[in-house]
Amino acid sequence: MGEPLRIHAGIVALFVIVALSNISAAQSSRKHSRTSTDSVRLPGAAFAAMQKIDPERIRAHVRFLSHDLLEGRGTGQRGGDIAAEYIGTQFALYGLKPAGDNGTYLQKVPMVGITPEPETTFSLIAAHGEGKSLKPLDEYVAYDQTQQQQSDVDAEIVYVGYGIEAPEYKWDDYKGVDVRGKVLLVLVNEPPSDDVNFFKGKALTYYGRWTYKYEEAARKGAVGVILIHQTEMASYPWEVVRNSNSGEKSYLKLDGSPKLKVASWVQFEVAKQMANTSGMDLDKMMTDARSRDFHPVAMPVKLKAHMVSKIRPFESNNVLAMLPGSDSRLRSEAVMYTAHYDHLGIRPDMPGDNIYNGANDNATGCGILLEIARTYAEAGQRPHRSMLFASVTGEEQGLLGSEYLGKHPPVPAGKISLDLNYDDIPPLGSPEEVEVSGAERTNFYSEVEAMAKTFRLTIRPDSPIRAWISLAMPRWRDLDLCWDGRPRPKANW
Ligand SMILES: [Zn+2]
Repeated sequence: MGEPLRIHAGIVALFVIVALSNISAAQSSRKHSRTSTDSVRLPGAAFAAMQKIDPERIRAHVRFLSHDLLEGRGTGQRGGDIAAEYIGTQFALYGLKPAGDNGTYLQKVPMVGITPEPETTFSLIAAHGEGKSLKPLDEYVAYDQTQQQQSDVDAEIVYVGYGIEAPEYKWDDYKGVDVRGKVLLVLVNEPPSDDVNFFKGKALTYYGRWTYKYEEAARKGAVGVILIHQTEMASYPWEVVRNSNSGEKSYLKLDGSPKLKVASWVQFEVAKQMANTSGMDLDKMMTDARSRDFHPVAMPVKLKAHMVSKIRPFESNNVLAMLPGSDSRLRSEAVMYTAHYDHLGIRPDMPGDNIYNGANDNATGCGILLEIARTYAEAGQRPHRSMLFASVTGEEQGLLGSEYLGKHPPVPAGKISLDLNYDDIPPLGSPEEVEVSGAERTNFYSEVEAMAKTFRLTIRPDSPIRAWISLAMPRWRDLDLCWDGRPRPKANW
């Protein structure tokens, strides 16, 4: 960890906004509906709760969670487990009800660690027989999501543009083409547009994420996906892909959903060369993909891959606590606050300080979540709805804890009216803007707008790189609870 953290009033203001909006949403739900231009009048109990928020407490949580002793809170590692115990212990001290397994604060999340072995081979074979064996990490990265020790793929490659099927935007890259048994070549991100009604304009939707591309391809029966990395489109360099795809990677234990034998990225130059040897032009292919009329293209090239993996089953935990609501009718509903506690652990092969402390990402979100939980627990008046506090694991591994929580929620998913997620909130200066990622597509948006106005903050559209506060309806697209999980440059904080 570098210099001591300074938690500014700004961070607290961000917290207050959301905490209060929640109380006021619960209390005003049966009264009038506010227009987006009204500012918010704070209920007395909410105002009193706001006065109790203590930035020093947030600072203390951040300091502990990002201490070297916690070894970067790696998923399934000792430091991560200590962080989970710490958070659960705080919940207990606040007097919150356990909402994990068997009356505890912990919800077991069964996972599997997969490490590609050096015997793995990955070759592109042109129709006229010429083959090119790719170099791991420099030219490609690949994981076997089927969690087998060995898998073989020998399949034709089909270019499917962005690989998106989104009826709400009248967009379908697949056009009903049967891709069963194929390997799909896919662009990252989504078709570029400034039109907010088309993939939300410049903002990023779930369709742009690499996790979606893998999931959709697997649902359609493909055996593999090759994502083409281009810095400009991905908004992060190859090193980020390389770093987050080397060594062991964690997955949820198989639960029957379809998986890819080869989930891979290739470096842009490799894709370009592959297109050239196939008599195609990658630039033109990329332009073609921007059209609604795009149609999948079978390429005269095959992927021949022999995937060899080391498989390590293990368990990690989500940490869950509940504050029952005060209204006999509404308490079966819940408002959920989330923040992931995991970070990237230690890199043993790196010389010097090799601990990824993750003070920003996401000890800050955890500190805020804990202070929200404490303030609720000690408030003189309880909100009508129940409050569910969830600190999730495996976010850096691909939102695994959120996915598991979405599939196994302690309150039925249809009864969770709102999820407010805190991730990576840098304590720098006083904020003038706030990002409330995903808010526009919820019916809570007018509250968000009113709250931002009250606190004189401008709402900024979702950045593809960083979400400050994420907000998502949990039933949206396979219960994807959390929107910020893209690979990001490694940093100590
Ligand atoms: Zn994060």
